[in-house]
Amino acid sequence: MTKYVFVTGGVLSSVGKGIVTASIGKLLQARGYSVTAIKIDPYLNVDAGTMNPYMHGEVFVTEDGGETDLDLGHYERFLHINLSKFNNITTGQVYLKVIERERKGEYLGKCVQIIPHITDEIKSRIRFVAKREEVDVVVVEIGGTVGDIEGLPFLEAVRQMRIEEGYQNTVFVHVALVPILEVTGEQKTKPVQHSVQELRRIGIQPDIIVARCKVTLEDEAKRKIALYGNVPLDSVFTSYTVGTIYEVPLILEKQGLGKKVIERLHLEPREPNLRDLEWFVGRIKHSKRKVVVGMVGKYTKLKDSYISINEALVHAGAHLAVKPTLKWIEATDIEEGRISVEEALSEVNGVIVLPGFGKRGAEGKIMAIKYARENNIPLLGICFGMQLMVVEYARNVIGLEHAHSTEIDPKTPHPVIDLMEEQTRIKQLGGTMRLGAYPINLFKNTLAYSLYSKETIYERHRHRYEVNPKYIDKIFAHGLRISGLSYDGRVEFVELSKKEHTFYLGTQAHPEFKSRPLSPSPPYLGFLKAAIGLI
Ligand code: GLN
Repeated sequence: MTKYVFVTGGVLSSVGKGIVTASIGKLLQARGYSVTAIKIDPYLNVDAGTMNPYMHGEVFVTEDGGETDLDLGHYERFLHINLSKFNNITTGQVYLKVIERERKGEYLGKCVQIIPHITDEIKSRIRFVAKREEVDVVVVEIGGTVGDIEGLPFLEAVRQMRIEEGYQNTVFVHVALVPILEVTGEQKTKPVQHSVQELRRIGIQPDIIVARCKVTLEDEAKRKIALYGNVPLDSVFTSYTVGTIYEVPLILEKQGLGKKVIERLHLEPREPNLRDLEWFVGRIKHSKRKVVVGMVGKYTKLKDSYISINEALVHAGAHLAVKPTLKWIEATDIEEGRISVEEALSEVNGVIVLPGFGKRGAEGKIMAIKYARENNIPLLGICFGMQLMVVEYARNVIGLEHAHSTEIDPKTPHPVIDLMEEQTRIKQLGGTMRLGAYPINLFKNTLAYSLYSKETIYERHRHRYEVNPKYIDKIFAHGLRISGLSYDGRVEFVELSKKEHTFYLGTQAHPEFKSRPLSPSPPYLGFLKAAIGLI
C-alpha cells in the first residue's frame, strides 16, 4: 500500500518548500524506501511551457516531454530519479479533463461541481502516479500558499485522501516562514500560527511543521509553534539557511525529521544511509578553487530562470573539487553597448551561452560567441546558444552576410537556423515544441564523443528551430563540424576541433536536465574541465 506525504506552504511562497519536499523524499529513500514526488500547481495554465521564465523560473523538461515546474528538477536531482509529465498536476489539466468529460456527456443528468468532480479528478491523478510508479511513498507538494483561493480544491482533495487512505498512511507537513525582526532580532511565529489556523479551518491538521528561518529556531519560538500549531514539540523542525540546498536533507535528518515521518507513516524504522550526499556536500563546502563562468543570457535578473544549468555546474564543480562562480552577463547590455564584450568577458574562465527565445539579446549573444571563439575561451552553447554559434560562424567565417535564425529575422537571406519542417503545420503553441528525450548518435573522434564515451546518448529537448538541413553542406565544410545527429538527421552537436579551440561545443539539447549530484552532465563537466585548464 502506497503512503502519502502532503506538503503545504504557509505565509509566503518561495521559501524553499520544494527543497523540503525533495529532502523528505531523500530521507525516506536513504532508508531504502522507494519514493516519487508530485508537484501541484494551482494555476490555470495546463503546463509551465507557456509561461515566461521571469514569471515562474525555468521550465523543467521531463524525459517524456512534459514542460513542468522547476521543482521537478529539484526532485529529480535530490532523488536521482526520472519523473514524468504526470508528476506535475495543474488546475488547467484538471479542469480541462473535467470539462471535456462534461462535453462528451459523461456526467449526463448531473450538475458538475468542484466537489466532488474536480476533487475526484485531483485524487485520481495523484493515485495514478502512485499506481504507475509502484513506490512505497509519494511526496506531494501543493504549490502556493495556504489561504490562496486557487489552492482550495487541492487542499480539499488531499483532506479527503487522509480519510480514504487512512490516518497511518498519510502525513501532513506544513512549511512556513518565520521572519526575524531586524531591530530586536526576535523570531516571529505569528504568521506560522495564522497559516496553521487557516489549514485547520479547512479541515487539515498538520502533523509536522517545518519552520523556514534564517537561523535555528529558539526554544521559545518552537514552543509557541507547537502550542498554537497544535502539534507535539518534537514535530517542529527548522529549515535554516545553509550554504547549499543539498545540505537541507542533512540538517533535517539531524533534527529527526526522517524518523518522525517514518513513525507517522507506520513504516519500519531503518538506519538512513546518507553517505553519498554527505560526501557531495563536503565537496561543495570545501572546494575553494574558483572558476568563473560567464553566463550570457537574457533572463539573468531572475537566477531561477536557468536553475538546472546552475545545478549542473554545481555537480560538475563538486566532481572536480572547484567552486564555480557565476558571472551573469545580460546579452542586451552587450548588444546595446552598455558594456563592451571584452569587458563583459574579462576574468571569465569559460562562457555558457544560455537557451532562449526571441530577438532581444540575440545579437549580444552572437558578439559574445565571436569573442570567445576568436580568443580561445571555452564555450558551451545550449539550444538557442548553439543555434547562435552556427549563425555567428556562418556570418563571420563562411561569409554568409546577415545569416540568421528565421525566429529572429524571418527575411534573412541565409536562414541557417529555421523552423523544423513539422512545426510549420502547428497552430497551437502549448506543448507543441520538440520536447523530451531523443536519441543522439555521436561521431567517434569528436569532443562530444570523448565527453560521453558512448555512441548513442539520450538528452532532452525543447525547441522549434534547428540547423537548416539545406545549409548543412555549406556550413560544415569548414572548421565547424557536426559531432552528433539525431536518428532523423537533425544537428544535435557542433564543435571546433581541438586544434582550433580548447573547448567549443554547442548542443541543440539541454543536457542540464539530466545532471545529478553524483553523475554530472558530460558537456558541463567537460566545459568546466576546460575552464580550469584540465583539457
Ligand atoms: N528558440 C529556439 C527554438 O525554439 C531555442 C529554444 C531554446 O533555447 N530552448 O528552437
